[in-house]
Amino acid sequence: MGVMSELWKGLRVTGRIGLRSLVGRGIVTTEYPKEFRTKPQRFHGRHVLNRYPDGMEKCIGCELCAGACPAQCIYVRGADNAPDDPNSPGERFGYVYEINMLRCIFCALCVEACPTEAITMTHLFEMSVTSREEAIYTKEELLMRPDGTVPHPRPDDPYADLSELEVADGWVRATAPSGSAAYEGVKMWQDTAGPASWDPEPDQETRDA
Ligand code: SF4
Ligand code: SF4
Repeated sequence: MGVMSELWKGLRVTGRIGLRSLVGRGIVTTEYPKEFRTKPQRFHGRHVLNRYPDGMEKCIGCELCAGACPAQCIYVRGADNAPDDPNSPGERFGYVYEINMLRCIFCALCVEACPTEAITMTHLFEMSVTSREEAIYTKEELLMRPDGTVPHPRPDDPYADLSELEVADGWVRATAPSGSAAYEGVKMWQDTAGPASWDPEPDQETRDA
């Protein structure tokens, strides 16, 4: 009897919701993927590893992103740059870089932690996979090409809107650096994937002068 009454209660709720959407009140269902909603600028989608305008990789293999990740889904191994053919400015670069997207909670703490703005997030959320292995994005899939375009593991995926990869929030910090009021309202992210187009943050001495 108890089960039947619970069932009846559930059916009534479902019927009420159906009726409300039929008469066009309240509930709006987006018929994805036929219809698409504009995402907020800071939408957290799949990651991308960025380059500098000269093609150098921004990642220096410091592992701060991996340390900050609450889901422990980033694996980084740094290596020394070859002095005559460096991958990144400085001594080290990200030799191995992997993100297990099955564990990622898209919190963007990795983006916050990165000292070189190497890792940012795009607007792409279509990342269905058919095996656990496919869900591990390697450096090959994460690192943007030298021309600024972003690779996708399955470029022929009919369900993925790859133009979403062109839009990266690339934001750096949720709060002003060191709590400095001078940073209130200052734009700290770029609108598009690709080589960073914003002016670098001034060093502390310049800022405090
Ligand atoms: S978005 Fe969050 S959970 Fe995902 S890799 Fe970055 S820090 Fe880890
Ligand atoms: S992405 Fe950023 S934080 Fe992560 S290893 Fe590279 S430079 Fe360090």
